[in-house]
Amino acid sequence: MNIGVPRGLLYSKYHVFAETFLEEIGAKIVVSPATNKLILDEGVRYCVDDACLPMKVFHGHVSWLKDRCDAMLVPRFIGIKEKEYICPMFCGSIEMVSNNIPQLPCLIDTPICSTQNYKLSQWAKKTGSVLTKDENKIMAALDKALQRHGNSKTGFNDEGYPLKIGLIGHAYNIYDKFINMDLKKKLNGLGIGIITSEYINGADIADEAGKLFKKPFWTFAQEYYGAAVCIIKTKKADGIIYLSSFSCGIDSVVIELIKSETGDFPFMVLKLDEHTGEAGFDTRIEAFADMLKRRCGIGHNLS
Ligand code: SF4
Repeated sequence: MNIGVPRGLLYSKYHVFAETFLEEIGAKIVVSPATNKLILDEGVRYCVDDACLPMKVFHGHVSWLKDRCDAMLVPRFIGIKEKEYICPMFCGSIEMVSNNIPQLPCLIDTPICSTQNYKLSQWAKKTGSVLTKDENKIMAALDKALQRHGNSKTGFNDEGYPLKIGLIGHAYNIYDKFINMDLKKKLNGLGIGIITSEYINGADIADEAGKLFKKPFWTFAQEYYGAAVCIIKTKKADGIIYLSSFSCGIDSVVIELIKSETGDFPFMVLKLDEHTGEAGFDTRIEAFADMLKRRCGIGHNLS
């Protein structure tokens, strides 16, 4: 059986887990290609106008896969930590794609809540039963998937650049080169290295988030806020760029929380949507780079 895996939303964080699990239970995997103009256009065509860009891109990946697989893995993400949640858009993503995109194959949409081992096992048994009735095989696949996931690492921590910035934001914005117009390459080309939240100590992130009067109940909001504050306090970087999705409710809260801690620490928000023009994007990045160089006394030519 060919199982489609859309390269959107949390793919960059969990693809090793998902692909290992599916392969171990005997699936042949079809992954949609890296986001491109065709995928974005399909997503914009099918998705509702006021959804965030990552949700539109996800629609595009689902659309690309729909005639190329027998079933598609579209898990309903609910939570990855106890008493915390993922953006509600994830819970509704199944209804969105199944109502917006015609003629989809069977969707494997078992809710996934990895806050406790037994919940993850329930997900594995239900998902795995699409391909095999052998529960031992399913549990062995789950173990292997968790092991490989634990050994995999995403994130950037560039060394050797005269300047460094913390790049904060959703993984699906940071690791999608098409959507962010290869921001990393642009920054590296301006002599700026990047550090992302994966390279900030998890305990320090939790500590900073825990100091808030009211901790956000979204896991990723805590991660972005905590990582940004750690960077500001430890001066691990010379500035922060927050890569935000237009119309994202979580970003609108996190950005304000971070701003309340920045003081005079350089901080810039770059918003992405399907209309973001590259020229304006470049101008803002170059202006931020010039400002950082001036502050740090690097280079005389600020052209
Ligand atoms: S967190 Fe924001 S960008 Fe991500 S799916 Fe939710 S609304 Fe969209």
